[in-house]
Amino acid sequence: MKFLRTLTTLTILLSLSFGATLKGLRVGFYQKKVRIVFDLSDRVKVKSFILKGPYRIVIDFYGVYKVKNLKKIKGFKIRVGKHPWGRRVVLIPSFPFSTKRFYLREPERFVVDVYREAKTFPHFRKITVVIDPGHGGKDPGAIGFLGIREKDVNLKIAKELYRLLRGDKRFRVVLTRKGDYYVPLKERSLIAVREKADLFISIHSDAAPKGKPYAVGTQIFAVSYEGLKDRVRDKDFVKMLLGRGYQEPIVRKILLDLAMDLSLEESVTFGRILAFHLKKFLSREVVFRGIKRARFEVLKNPGIPSILLETGFITNPEEALKLVSRDFQKRLAKAIYKSIVYYFFKERGV
Ligand SMILES: [Zn+2]
Repeated sequence: MKFLRTLTTLTILLSLSFGATLKGLRVGFYQKKVRIVFDLSDRVKVKSFILKGPYRIVIDFYGVYKVKNLKKIKGFKIRVGKHPWGRRVVLIPSFPFSTKRFYLREPERFVVDVYREAKTFPHFRKITVVIDPGHGGKDPGAIGFLGIREKDVNLKIAKELYRLLRGDKRFRVVLTRKGDYYVPLKERSLIAVREKADLFISIHSDAAPKGKPYAVGTQIFAVSYEGLKDRVRDKDFVKMLLGRGYQEPIVRKILLDLAMDLSLEESVTFGRILAFHLKKFLSREVVFRGIKRARFEVLKNPGIPSILLETGFITNPEEALKLVSRDFQKRLAKAIYKSIVYYFFKERGV
């Protein structure tokens, strides 16, 4: 992953306290910098580093389990993540920056100085989206009304989306299959990792559950923590994620944790944006199933936001006719495309 290579600094202080509180933050705006001070109840271990895509400042507070009064900061997005070891705060400035970060004692506090940089982000790079049309070849997927096959519907929608993204210079786009042939699930996931995908979307259509032949609507799934855990135990994936060179076990662990965090947090963020756009542009009933239920093999992509979209129920006659109509396929693809643009350029501010 690109962002894994950009671990730039690592600050470690000795841990002296557990069960501490992050009491709040103070902000000072100066001519050249913004100073953000995190006030702590006790002395704690803090690790901080910068990640790319989008550029963001990660601050890990070890042994901190309570976070209070984290007010908004103008020009920044701020996120807090819960971990077994403590709390992670991520600051995402909306402008190019450099930083200085340091720990001060008595009272205990961690200071982040963010300097506005005049220059723009270096090396404009295209955003890679991997689109995965579900099933194919010997695996037809669900068989719907009038014998409509899921694999065909999935491919049609995926190709519409492919066309839209290809037409936008900001994106590079890869299909896991381009025709009616079989690609194993793990291979699809490996394609995403190999292509260094910034986003992975698997497109499916549902069969109604037994006893509910008229089920309607769109469902979105993201991977679960357990699903990702399987993957970071898989040697092929770890090699591809971290490269072949030797890394200290502690560094490996941090990198893998970060990759998992990124998948979990960003998949949910993108899933919500997608649900919103599908509702808005297609007036569809959309349910974001979140991360709890899904253990889909194809979504186990540490370091890559990954979602699975069940476009609709092809077993329901009305839904099936929609899903095979070119007009509906186009509108659906457009709504997904708009979600992708929104996610990268509004939400993440790449
Ligand atoms: Zn399917």
